[in-house]
Amino acid sequence: MPDPTQCWINGRLLSGEEARVPVMDHGLLYGDGVFEGIRFYHGRPFRLQAHLRRLADSCAAIRLTMPYSAEQLGKAVEETIAAFPGEDGYLRLMITRGSGPMGLDPAGCNNPNVILIATRLEMVHPELRQEGIRLIVAATRRLPANGLDPRIKSLNYLNNILARMEATRAGAQEAVLLNGQGRVAEGSAENLFIVRDGRLDTPRPADGALAGITRGIVLELAAGLGIPAREAPLTPYDLYTADECFLTGTGAELIPVVEVDERPLPSCPGPVFSSLAGAFRELVARECTPKETSR
Ligand code: PMP
Repeated sequence: MPDPTQCWINGRLLSGEEARVPVMDHGLLYGDGVFEGIRFYHGRPFRLQAHLRRLADSCAAIRLTMPYSAEQLGKAVEETIAAFPGEDGYLRLMITRGSGPMGLDPAGCNNPNVILIATRLEMVHPELRQEGIRLIVAATRRLPANGLDPRIKSLNYLNNILARMEATRAGAQEAVLLNGQGRVAEGSAENLFIVRDGRLDTPRPADGALAGITRGIVLELAAGLGIPAREAPLTPYDLYTADECFLTGTGAELIPVVEVDERPLPSCPGPVFSSLAGAFRELVARECTPKETSR
């Protein structure tokens, strides 16, 4: 099957095979840049405004001037999705520092590169989505906010990648990162929730969690369903003794967890997960309605 990937680079549409980035781009050299991952359903980007807002925040935090307005980026998103040969997919929107002289100082990088990639993404096998995935608590710790604030969605994921490699080595699908104080931060690319006695708990951004858009949606859905939910400091013990556990993310959507560090959880997929996952599906269906096909 041909690779369906389509790209938009600084205003030009290209196939995934044609698209190139310059080797002196500081995004490549140093991970100097920011990004968003956005899903589209029925050709419509889900929660685009929230993603553009977080992208603007990430840019502000690293002093990167966005070369396009939110409106122009919205148009670029539409164009890229329209070029993709499928209704559902995943969009990667990146802003890199751009090309400049070798060396960390971004002062000589005057033209950020804006890159969009529309592609397919299957985070886990559909069967595992049903059965639940296995987690480990990684030895690799989340970088502290006074090193690199985890709220910045930067192009440098090495911290998370090292944790994910630990999971793969242990035969698990995903790793949970703790912060320097031993509190649960998040998965390598997802936020984490536990359920205990009918109540949802999720780590605070101050403990190293990204302010995930799917996480925010789950908190809203919980409020609508009358499920008590709060941000709370969590430790591995809280995961081991939870009734349910699940991960959330744009790529992941909602994925139930069956086991943490070889401790099976009593309920997977549990009732709270199932009602939230159903409500999430309904929300996506409401916000991303099929487009009228032209006759
Ligand atoms: N944490 C990290 C480290 C991530 O990379 C992601 C995915 N972007 C998430 C959490 C989930 O965030 P969102 O729901 O906004 O995709």
